[in-house]
Amino acid sequence: MKCKKCGEKAVIKLRAHNISLCAPHFQEFFERRVSEAIKKYSLLSLHDKILVAVSGGKDSLNTWFLLKKLGYKADALHIDLGIDEYSKKSREKTEKFAHKIKGNLKIVELKEEVGFTLPHLAKREGRKACATCGLIKRYLMNREALNGSYSAIATGHNLDDETAVLLSNLLNWKMGYLGRQSPLLPSWHPKLAKKIKPLCEVTERESAAYAILNQIDYIYEDCPFSQGATTIFLKGILNQIEEKSPGTKIRFYREFQQKARSLFEEEKMSLSECPTCGLPTTHPPCAFCRLKSRLLQKEGKSK
Ligand code: SF4
Ligand SMILES: [Zn+2]
Ligand SMILES: [Zn+2]
Repeated sequence: MKCKKCGEKAVIKLRAHNISLCAPHFQEFFERRVSEAIKKYSLLSLHDKILVAVSGGKDSLNTWFLLKKLGYKADALHIDLGIDEYSKKSREKTEKFAHKIKGNLKIVELKEEVGFTLPHLAKREGRKACATCGLIKRYLMNREALNGSYSAIATGHNLDDETAVLLSNLLNWKMGYLGRQSPLLPSWHPKLAKKIKPLCEVTERESAAYAILNQIDYIYEDCPFSQGATTIFLKGILNQIEEKSPGTKIRFYREFQQKARSLFEEEKMSLSECPTCGLPTTHPPCAFCRLKSRLLQKEGKSK
């Protein structure tokens, strides 16, 4: 297998693009796709100050690494959820990486914030861990972006993540979610940073190859709560389709963005500030402050 660009030994075959590439040409390809997505979807300008949400996985570490490499001002936030060994390892990998690239990293611990780790919290709340986790992560990212005057929050969602969620939202006709499923969610309140997904057009496999070639040491294990998730099942289905018809995923995603997403856009709900923490919310007090006060009440009763 030879590199289509230079004829040297290829390290990866990309069926969706009908090319094989050597290590340097693959890196160039990957970086170009990310910068083209940034331009095409108007994700960033060089004046933006970015906060990257890093979990310790390949996609978020790549996002941080690459944004810095492309000349953007990018710091990172890691939320330690307290999920036993998984969180310990994720935090270690993140801290080691921050040290390696001399990046600014802020760590927020869920236990410090609400008094419980995620597994305990989910049990107390009687909700699925991911629902509680999503609420908390969104809140803490917004809060830390506001405190640090960041104009953008970047996450590491890749093409496989995005197409699996897109398929799920279509299967269930989740109109509001479909309207918001964009690589760019502009800020719609002075206290909210815009949200961007720079890796939206590169696949999970390409992202893993890029991390390995750049010696980015990431956590391979998935969060234990992700097991059995519908998105994992849908990723498998999309991979089967991709196998038969290479290029389907990228077409599905791009054409949805170009031709359909705006059809689902709904009017934005008005936001007011939470009386407790001051962050914008549709239903004050905000979901995070309501969660905290419920926990305090339960705590009072159990004493
Ligand atoms: S899988 Fe669920 S619990 Fe684990 S990090 Fe993701 S959202 Fe949180
Ligand atoms: Zn080459
Ligand atoms: Zn609040």
